[in-house]
Amino acid sequence: MSCYPVYNNTPVAKQVDSIYENHLDQFLSEGEYKKFNLPNLYDLHRIDNSIKDVENDTAKGYVNLRVYPVPDLKRPNVHEIIGKVNFEQVAYKGDAFGPSWSTFWIQVEVRIPDSWSDYAEVIFDWDCGNEGLVYTEDCQPVQAFSGSERTEYILPKSWQTDHSIHIFYVEMACNGMFGCGGTDQIAPPDPNRHFVLKKADLLVPNLPARALRCDFMIIQQSAKEFPSRSWQKFRARQLCHEIMNAFHPEDPSTIEECRSLAKLYLGEHIDSEYVNETNPNQTKVYAVGHCHIDTAWLWPFAETRRKIVRSWATQLNLLDRYPEYRFVCSQAQQYEWLKQDHPRTYERLKKHVKSRQFLPVGGSWVEHDTNLPCGESLIRQFLFGQRFFQDEFDVRCDTFWLPDTFGYSSQIPQICRLAGMDRFLTQKLSWSNINSFPHSTFNWVALDGSQVLCHMPPADTYTADTNVTDIIHSVFQHKNLANDQAGLLVFGIGDGGGGPTPEMLEKLRRCKGVANTIGQLPEIKLGDSVDDFFDGVFKRTSNAATLPSWVGELYLEFHRGTYTTQSEIKSSMRKAEFSLHDLEYFATLAFVRIPGFKYPVREINELWKTTLLCQFHDVLPGSCIEMVYKDAIPMMHNVFRSSELLIKAILEQLGFRQITSHTTLPDYLLTTLPWNVGGVVDESANTTPLSFYESIDNPNILVRSENYVKHPARAYESNGCLVLRTDKFLVRISKSGLIMSIHDFYNDREVLDLKTGINKTGANQYVLLQDTPLSFPAWDTEIYSLDKYSILTDGKAQIYETGPTKASVLVETPISEKSSIKTVISISGFNNDDDASSIDFSCEVDWHEDYKFLKVEFPVDIHAEYVSYETQFGITHRPTHYNTSWDVAKFEVCHHKFADYSDYNYGVSILNDCKYGFSVHGNLMRLSLLRSPKQPDAHADMGKHYFRYAILPHKGGLSPQVVRAAYKFNSLFRFVNKNSIETSVEALDFVRVDGDENIIVSNVKKAEDEDAIILRLYESLGGRSRCRLTLKNCDIKSVTKCNILEEDIAQVNLQNDEEGCHIQIELKAFEIASFKMSL
Ligand SMILES: [Zn+2]
Repeated sequence: MSCYPVYNNTPVAKQVDSIYENHLDQFLSEGEYKKFNLPNLYDLHRIDNSIKDVENDTAKGYVNLRVYPVPDLKRPNVHEIIGKVNFEQVAYKGDAFGPSWSTFWIQVEVRIPDSWSDYAEVIFDWDCGNEGLVYTEDCQPVQAFSGSERTEYILPKSWQTDHSIHIFYVEMACNGMFGCGGTDQIAPPDPNRHFVLKKADLLVPNLPARALRCDFMIIQQSAKEFPSRSWQKFRARQLCHEIMNAFHPEDPSTIEECRSLAKLYLGEHIDSEYVNETNPNQTKVYAVGHCHIDTAWLWPFAETRRKIVRSWATQLNLLDRYPEYRFVCSQAQQYEWLKQDHPRTYERLKKHVKSRQFLPVGGSWVEHDTNLPCGESLIRQFLFGQRFFQDEFDVRCDTFWLPDTFGYSSQIPQICRLAGMDRFLTQKLSWSNINSFPHSTFNWVALDGSQVLCHMPPADTYTADTNVTDIIHSVFQHKNLANDQAGLLVFGIGDGGGGPTPEMLEKLRRCKGVANTIGQLPEIKLGDSVDDFFDGVFKRTSNAATLPSWVGELYLEFHRGTYTTQSEIKSSMRKAEFSLHDLEYFATLAFVRIPGFKYPVREINELWKTTLLCQFHDVLPGSCIEMVYKDAIPMMHNVFRSSELLIKAILEQLGFRQITSHTTLPDYLLTTLPWNVGGVVDESANTTPLSFYESIDNPNILVRSENYVKHPARAYESNGCLVLRTDKFLVRISKSGLIMSIHDFYNDREVLDLKTGINKTGANQYVLLQDTPLSFPAWDTEIYSLDKYSILTDGKAQIYETGPTKASVLVETPISEKSSIKTVISISGFNNDDDASSIDFSCEVDWHEDYKFLKVEFPVDIHAEYVSYETQFGITHRPTHYNTSWDVAKFEVCHHKFADYSDYNYGVSILNDCKYGFSVHGNLMRLSLLRSPKQPDAHADMGKHYFRYAILPHKGGLSPQVVRAAYKFNSLFRFVNKNSIETSVEALDFVRVDGDENIIVSNVKKAEDEDAIILRLYESLGGRSRCRLTLKNCDIKSVTKCNILEEDIAQVNLQNDEEGCHIQIELKAFEIASFKMSL
């Protein structure tokens, strides 16, 4: 007979799921019932006497604070503070520190009570709501504070027993992790924020209670997040209830009983790294710690330098405490700053790199934007990045790490491969607000067919919190589970720095414990690197053969305003990129031509580093606060100025005196473009008539023409219109400044279409759109802005220059009562029929708008399904229609020097000298000019702007003539005279390319480590092509094809003759090729 009692008098209610699940929240809550629950037991002892009331009670002086306020918002180095300044002012809890961006140094004097000597840990608990860093007396940074999420510094164990007073320092930065915005994080910073000191306590933690907190969190999350019919969900809920019922706040010994219950779910090994040692073959989630530090964003570069040491010094401690933990860290620039500012911490970091716990990743100088920098800039990001990691750590990065950048241009896989990387990680595409990107793990293919293995962490974040949901999402949101089931989990506080907390690592041990003990949760692994993760994917997918592919750009359907916002950083970047190109060209030429010439490698590298820094993914796109641009714009102007000064000095050594402003006419105009550029009009002269320069047989040196141009330009009035005319074009401009017609004489056709599309008013029509995006004003512009706009038709036009070299019309157009635009529309005379002829627009805008977007329109008589937009080293095609939601999403796209809209017979290109946003839909080409968002910079883009663009109608489709015209439009021509009659102009004849004109020489530089010239070429239009490259008057010993790190790939045949040396080159479509020519 079984023992089966009668329960009639002890009935049991069936649990009401929602009530029993919600009840669990009480156990860890700091709210009304705290005293009955676990938070009541977190501290064993707390001394809280740095308050004013006990000022005179010296016997109890366990914590004393003294302050040194740093004047003038400066950020001095620790060595200028400790032992150098007087800490005169006493401070207490409740004191307020400010204003925003100021720094205070706090001298903290502590004495640990004798009775605490046997405890495992004593903590200094600090919370001032801002960022802080503990320094030891010998100036070493040891632990960061960041407001409520990171408040504890574990004091050295010896201090518990030596009965002495000890001193350390806190460097307090009066900004939060996300700068000094108010409740709206991306609002412009409040210049007058103050931070109140809430905690400065000595504390003995109740370590078992804290461990139980993590136990309970993970079991409770399992009860909440596991599938509704899984037994593991209900088992978790029952255990949580048992723990809550076993717990007695007045009896700390019950904590052990509670923990024993927890281990029924979590397993036995959760208090150590050994929990990781079971079931390694079933791993689905690979967890790596990370700390995304925006190199500038809601704070300036100078604060980033401190965020780096705060974040990384703290992570180094965690790497010591948690042997299974791996921390991945990108951006060579940040390592270099640490090396400069904190050499001893840097040495400590190096040891952890050696033990493969602190893992450099990414291979680039900063986590840069990929839409806007030119091709050579992208290459230099990797050249500088990989060389830094190689030199400092003997590490070559295999993975390009770019979690947070606003879209990824189509040549990135090729450039990665040429930089020795075949893996790529991002997650930003999960932010697209129209279509969901279909892959998590896939082959990403570039324009030339190169591919990288790409993974987008399925948890859709690079700042995961190691909760049960993050682990679940790493598998359940994986979009290619049919191909591979592993997901990378990138955890740690980020954007403003920080990184993982100890609690995150404790939670991961418990998640692993759940997977081991109960199942349901995917198996997690710590201890692998990002490369290990990718190695595993390769292994499981037959070297990625079984993975799907995505060809071309990874277009982010978000943040399209970043092609236009903060136009001055963009225009100064374009000019600096062209100037640096020329600097390296002339320096290489001098290196070849002048015996003993010292190539200015140090100066050039410094200019490049500044340029690469300003390409960071918030700086160049325009999404930083005003303070950042007050640094970055002068930095970029300085790059240009310094580069030009170096060029001037080099030209001097080559025998030419550069003329920077002139009233008499210089003899020559220099160009670095290796093809005949046709005629160039001297626009800078204060002389009339304007002079005209043309190359005779050396493409690099244009000679002032003694005669007038053969085909002059004229301006006159006719039939109520202003007319600009050459033998190629007749341009009719209305009295209000709109172009009513462009007639192409050579092709006998009209270029414009004012009849069939939205725009029936004219070309060069300025439109002002209402630009109020759903979120992120500096970043976003939304498609509905295209529905609400005004057209600016009140311009006044007058003839400005009458020819024959150049003819022009000046148009003055009011934009509003506050803003206006002055445009010079011009056309130049020419000598050769083959010269590409454009109609040029030179604009000066006075811009003072709120949430308006200025664009300029060209309605053209072209019909085609797609447009060719120039991108780095190639062309990206995008649709002119809205067939699908993917087409709709591309209502505003990024381009570089030109956008070309061509049908089979004829086309129109719009060239620009510093603009990046564009769209073409139907017959309407629209170039984006200026925006006026008010967050996070309240004054973004206000004031004067100068820019140029041009319309280039042409016979046939997109051709090398367009590519070359866009280069010419951006090139920096330099006026020179010879220094003496002995100076030879032949010395300037350097690089020549004969053959297919779609092959472009993009850069010439000296090799990094050898006496050799690097020549970089690319195929610009998408077809296998050949050319013969000649270096004139050069003695080259050997040539190799090399990668962008300048490592040899293959030997190349070299021919030398009296002209110079030659190599034959064959490039596949959109290939980027580098050649090393050894002297
Ligand atoms: Zn970022």
